[in-house]
Amino acid sequence: MKSKLPHIPLTRPSTPPFAEVAPHLKKVAASGFLTNAGYVRKLEDRAARMLDVPHVVAVSSATSGLILTCKLLGLTGEVIVPSFTFFATVHGLVWNNLTPVFCDCDPQTFNADPESVERMITRRTSAILAVHVFGNPANIAALARIAREHKLKLLFDAAHGFGSAYRAKPLGRYGDAEVFSLSPTKLAPAGEGGIVTTRSRKLANELKVARDYGNPGDYNCSFVGLNARMAEWNAVFGWAALNRMPQLAHRRRRLAERYKKNLAGLPGLSFQSIPENHLSSFKDFVIMVDPRRAGLSRDDLAQFLAARNIDTRRYFFPPVHRQTAFRRFAKRGQKLPVTDFVSRNILALPLYSHQQTAEIDRVVQTVIACYRKHGTQS
Ligand SMILES: *Cc1c(COP(=O)(O)O)cnc(C)c1O
Repeated sequence: MKSKLPHIPLTRPSTPPFAEVAPHLKKVAASGFLTNAGYVRKLEDRAARMLDVPHVVAVSSATSGLILTCKLLGLTGEVIVPSFTFFATVHGLVWNNLTPVFCDCDPQTFNADPESVERMITRRTSAILAVHVFGNPANIAALARIAREHKLKLLFDAAHGFGSAYRAKPLGRYGDAEVFSLSPTKLAPAGEGGIVTTRSRKLANELKVARDYGNPGDYNCSFVGLNARMAEWNAVFGWAALNRMPQLAHRRRRLAERYKKNLAGLPGLSFQSIPENHLSSFKDFVIMVDPRRAGLSRDDLAQFLAARNIDTRRYFFPPVHRQTAFRRFAKRGQKLPVTDFVSRNILALPLYSHQQTAEIDRVVQTVIACYRKHGTQS
């Protein structure tokens, strides 16, 4: 069916008005410094103040940030990581020849389940790499306790973490390091980019060398790093995005609340639960559709919405431990029942920071119409 209804995309980058960034781009062009210079410093300073963390190192992407951070922390052997995440979380490990050991997620928060994490620890485990899934802060207290007791490093993939808060404080200060993304679908889009945040001056200094090939400045390479520098053009957009981020994150949360209020009560439909005292960035707004109670599946719903020109994404599906590149790491016979259930029944609905409420309302009305046609009547 070809729909004439206006298209609703899953997401759109909230870039600043071009007139706002143009003078800065012009300055970059005139300066002759196109990468890793003044605007990268500006971005790092702005992020450090906003996240209230002592050290921020900008890199070319969260993926390169994860790769370098895992290397510099000297991780060895096995690292415990949730399977319910975006695959790039695990790239950081595999590029370092580390073995990802997948843990299960919590059925309500969709974040790494601390009990499952603890069960996966062996003599070879060197670290836990947790994720703030869709911007919902991980169970940091429980993971920090486990890391302390077992003398493991603790890292966070905070790619979704701009705009989130854990016990009313921004993410970025937790564990040995956190890695944020500034890629186009994230809350502060720079085009491409990432930042690593840490309380360790030593790690921050090493990262600055590592992102520049491993060149400490005298062209006598001290170790094999990467070219993971951020270009100045990206830094201008990232810096401008951070300046607008608090308002945009606030707006996005209001839109997510509107979804929740208007979809609440549909049979078998549930939301990611955000524990009290925490704030989610809602990098993605997801619903879970339990087909036994809803009388329809998330795939039915996705099709119904697609036919009416509304984009959705089965996110994250398949889970990492079932993907072609990663299933060899899944322990034989290992079951991740919660991850499989969540991954099979989850659907991301359109959400972006400057979205109009009328779009949200049309998505809600279409979901309700799908229930009327196919689902269990409430
Ligand atoms: C986007 C994303 C990444 C990768 O970020 P890039 O900046 O694109 O490299 C890593 N982890 C998660 C959870 C992500 O969503």
